Amino acid sequence: MNKYRENILSISILLTTLLLLSPAWAEYYDNARADEIYQKFEQVDYKDQKEADALLKEYKQIIAADDDVRQKLFIRQNCWSRPSETNEQLAKAIEYAQQQLLIYSDPYPSEIHTDLLLCLGYYKNYAGQTEGAFADISSAVSSAYELESPRLIADGRSIRGSMMSYQGNYNAALEDLITAQHLYEKLNLTYWANETLNEIATSYRRFGDSETALKYQIKLEKMYIESGQLMEADTINVQIAFSLEALGKINESTERFYRSLKYWQSKKDKVAIAGTKVNIAGNLILQGQIDKALMLLKEAEPDVPLEYEGPHSFMCLYFAQAYLVKNELDKAIEYSKKASIDFTRGANKRGETQNLRLLNDIYLAKGDIANAHKALSDFVDMHLILDKQIMSDKNAEMQTRFNTDKVQNENELLLKAASDKELQLQIMQRNESMQIVIIILVAIILIIVSVFAYKQVKRKRTYQTLALTDELTGLSNRRDTYHQGELFIKQAKQSGKPFSVISFDADHFKQVNDTLGHEVGDKVLVKLAALTTGMMRENDVVGRVGGEEFLVLLPNISHTIALEIAQRLIDCIANYEWSQISPELHQTVSAGVTSLTNEAELSPLLLKADHALYSAKADGRNCVRSA
Ligand code: GH3
Ligand code: MG
Ligand code: MG
Repeated sequence: MNKYRENILSISILLTTLLLLSPAWAEYYDNARADEIYQKFEQVDYKDQKEADALLKEYKQIIAADDDVRQKLFIRQNCWSRPSETNEQLAKAIEYAQQQLLIYSDPYPSEIHTDLLLCLGYYKNYAGQTEGAFADISSAVSSAYELESPRLIADGRSIRGSMMSYQGNYNAALEDLITAQHLYEKLNLTYWANETLNEIATSYRRFGDSETALKYQIKLEKMYIESGQLMEADTINVQIAFSLEALGKINESTERFYRSLKYWQSKKDKVAIAGTKVNIAGNLILQGQIDKALMLLKEAEPDVPLEYEGPHSFMCLYFAQAYLVKNELDKAIEYSKKASIDFTRGANKRGETQNLRLLNDIYLAKGDIANAHKALSDFVDMHLILDKQIMSDKNAEMQTRFNTDKVQNENELLLKAASDKELQLQIMQRNESMQIVIIILVAIILIIVSVFAYKQVKRKRTYQTLALTDELTGLSNRRDTYHQGELFIKQAKQSGKPFSVISFDADHFKQVNDTLGHEVGDKVLVKLAALTTGMMRENDVVGRVGGEEFLVLLPNISHTIALEIAQRLIDCIANYEWSQISPELHQTVSAGVTSLTNEAELSPLLLKADHALYSAKADGRNCVRSA
């Protein structure tokens, strides 16, 4: 019974210890570092693709195989990080996205399915599968709205917006881009907010609204400067200069071009320096500073390659404009023709109209009316086409502006729903950590209770042992010896087997105490106990039943054998080298032996044994008598 209880206790202690240790197993995976890496991906906080690849590899290594949430984040990031430079790589990236989409098709929609669909659309667009791309991205955007996920909505609409802006569908493009940009800002995803803002400004510039483009460009420039992205800040600075020029703010524009010139001079980038000089020359011509403009153009010319179409076309146009003012008309015609080739190749209608108007002026100055007329009529045709395009674009712009308020309202509602969701998640997480605290507390209490209970059981056992044992000799005490004796009698009665007892008593023990001291007396008693126990079988009971009186219970032992044992016992004691304890010591014992006849209990048997013992004492001690 006690053993059983002990086992249960030790098992419960083991279990609670394991329970307490279990959070330590989880620590094997570095979730904190994994989340830190994930944040870097969110903020595009890495130098290049190589660093991004290394981070992704590390992420995979430190997340647990059964960590469903982080494993899914890995798959999503892995899809976006595929190499996509060559056609072959693009095909593989598309295949990867399609495979993962099959694996994560249930439940639908889910964040991972939506993100993978976006990723697939993105790669398809790059691979020139425009229609498929548009379908995938639009389907992903719908799923993102179903999921009420601001991040996925922003991603989907920014990608779709950029696609449509490139295709010239400004109305829909701007609605997507403005929604996405607003969401990114609210989500503190600065990198993506800026990227999208840049895309918005480009869209406005593409359809000729310099004022609005300027508004977005200035906002963007501020952000790039604040975040220390100097290269991006310079790109935007040049865009702003173009917008200012288009708005007739030539001085401000020139100032910005000079700022850019300084930047590129510090970088010693010849081509960029030359391009910037061309831009400055354009502004100088507008202000009538022809000589200075020509000087800059000539400085730039050797460093502007023909393939560098934009700057090359305008360099030629500006040369032509300057030579017209200088009245060097053949040179002017030569450069105007070069400009025309560039503008046509780059499909820059706006540039070409400007060039045709100039060509008309040059031929007029030359007095070549026929060519002047041809240039003018080409100019009118092209202008008509441009006007039509601008008209439709302006309509689109009006509609977009009208929709912007609606977009912002929708975004606010969406963000509120998302933050409510996040709050719910936080509460759930808090509850989860509360549960862990409670489990730990319960485990600690369980351990304390277990240890306490275990100690109690042990103490009880000690008390029980104490109650049955003689403290000095470790033998059974009188109570226990008598109890065992009763049991042996019962067994003997049932089995019909014999049962004998030896009662023995130390001779002249008072004298030992008196002459050698109580301590030596105690040692003698302990030795007597040890000698006796050493001679008996395991089943026999040796008890100390009085001060220097002992009783040996011998189950299944007949009277004759018991007598032999008793004789051997007193001989053994008499022959023991007692001088080991004290030089003068010679200890003997006297014994009385008796066996069970028809007694029903122990006391008459003990009485008989005592009689025999008295006889032994009376007969001179150190001998055995029987009754
Ligand atoms: P006899 O041979 O007739 O038995 O003489 P005896 O001196 O042994 O008998 P008696 O009954 O006169 O003395 C017993 C002594 O045993 C008295 C007591 O001092 C001593 N005694 C009893 N219990 C202990 C004990 O636990 N330790 C010690 N040292 N002595 C004890
Ligand atoms: Mg005695
Ligand atoms: Mg005695």
